[in-house]
Amino acid sequence: GDVLPRPEQTRVMVVANQKGGVGKTTTTVNLAASLALHGARVLVIDLDPQGNASTALGVDHHAEVPSVYDVLVDSKPLSDVVQPVPDVEGLFCAPATIDLAGAEIELVSLVARESRLQRAIQAYEQPLDYILIDCPPSLGLLTVNALVAGAEVLIPIQCEYYALEGLGQLLRNVELVRGHLNPKLHVSTILLTMYDGRTRLASQVADEVRSHFGNEVLRTSIPRSVRISEAPSYGQTVLTYDPGSSGSLSYLEAAREIALRGVGVNYEGHNAHTMG
Ligand code: ADP
Ligand code: MG
Repeated sequence: GDVLPRPEQTRVMVVANQKGGVGKTTTTVNLAASLALHGARVLVIDLDPQGNASTALGVDHHAEVPSVYDVLVDSKPLSDVVQPVPDVEGLFCAPATIDLAGAEIELVSLVARESRLQRAIQAYEQPLDYILIDCPPSLGLLTVNALVAGAEVLIPIQCEYYALEGLGQLLRNVELVRGHLNPKLHVSTILLTMYDGRTRLASQVADEVRSHFGNEVLRTSIPRSVRISEAPSYGQTVLTYDPGSSGSLSYLEAAREIALRGVGVNYEGHNAHTMG
């Protein structure tokens, strides 16, 4: 990708939607890789005990590996767990291991249980342009830690029938966290995923999401693409697995749009991957 303007400060983006299977992890890893290919330094924090983001980035996350669990529960410095992502310069990952499933309960009795990730990020000294946090499909303490640590929420929405259902709960949680713990928090970005332009349903859902959210919705949508779904089983993002594919180009374009918005530059749109 071509080089894009970098943010003045690290942008911490929380990729959240309590529905599973809407494209959170796919969006986190592919956007992160796209931003890195555009010249940014990017850290992915895998907050889902499933560790799908770690797998997709080809980062070791078997049970013994130092991970986000140690950061949250044992106050290990983030720098002790961050690994470089193979084959993508400027991209890093703090992996999730399966013990993170227990952290949801263990955190309850710890001091500053909602702000442990925020503290770890604040203490991290390596320069970064973006931190993308991949959340689990729930609104428990792990997701709350992400919402306290970030300023921006990025909601991937799958273009299907019940797309907006359940989002109210996420938006209320964002309001709660903003009111009590993190006044900077806001929904900055909505990304339509698994868009199938041939179906009327997809375009109806897209229209509905755009009329509901307006400017937060990126003009770029991510098409449904077999290449996108194949890439993780090779421990790769679609950006290295199939750089010329429509999925790859659409994530590069979404990254461009996010980067330009961040520095207040008007995004003009680009090509067929942009749905107006
Ligand atoms: P979540 O993290 O929200 O649970 P995932 O990112 O894991 O969702 O995506 C759910 C499934 O959909 C995965 O199997 C993934 O490979 C697939 N998928 C995600 N985005 C696309 C896409 N644009 N085209 C095709 N398959 C996709
Ligand atoms: Mg996921």
